[in-house]
Amino acid sequence: ALPVVALVGRPNVGKSTLFNRLTRSRDALVADQPGVTRDRQYGYGAHAGQRFIVVDTGGIGQDDEDIDARALAQTEAALAEADVVLLVVDFRQGIMAGDEAIAEQLRRRGAHVFVAVNKSEGQTSVSAAAEFHALGLGDPWAISAEHGDRIRLLLEQVFTDL
Ligand code: GDP
Ligand code: MG
Repeated sequence: ALPVVALVGRPNVGKSTLFNRLTRSRDALVADQPGVTRDRQYGYGAHAGQRFIVVDTGGIGQDDEDIDARALAQTEAALAEADVVLLVVDFRQGIMAGDEAIAEQLRRRGAHVFVAVNKSEGQTSVSAAAEFHALGLGDPWAISAEHGDRIRLLLEQVFTDL
């Protein structure tokens, strides 16, 4: 079976943008689309000849209530089917309570996790990642899903460890 990589994290950190980047799909979710909630979206990615399945969590059209609780439920569902999890966080916002809650859940479950510090364009990877060591999930990886920065580097690490 193909390895399954799940994208988890709070709303608006850039999970769907990363999903689109990894799958290069045109019909994948984008921000600010009105409409139905689809809780998870699946697509195919490839890295160095290795195909994999990407799972985007969080859906769209999510209401504002209990966002953190929903993110935790989504994370739980993703964990059930993922070989590796990318916890996406937002460099510009820094560590938020919701990030800590998801990180704690991932640590408790012993998940195989990489922290992806998104929206890090224009930053050195060291400075962008520094604060996020505090999530307790190893060395964070500074990326920009929108610009494509350092995505390959992250994937290299993911597939080295798998
Ligand atoms: P999701 O809710 O986690 O799926 O987040 P989205 O992928 O919908 O993105 C939320 C917002 O962040 C959108 O306005 C994106 O354009 C923006 N965004 C995503 N990735 C980046 C990035 O790498 N850099 C910047 N500056 N903005 C980004
Ligand atoms: Mg999304």
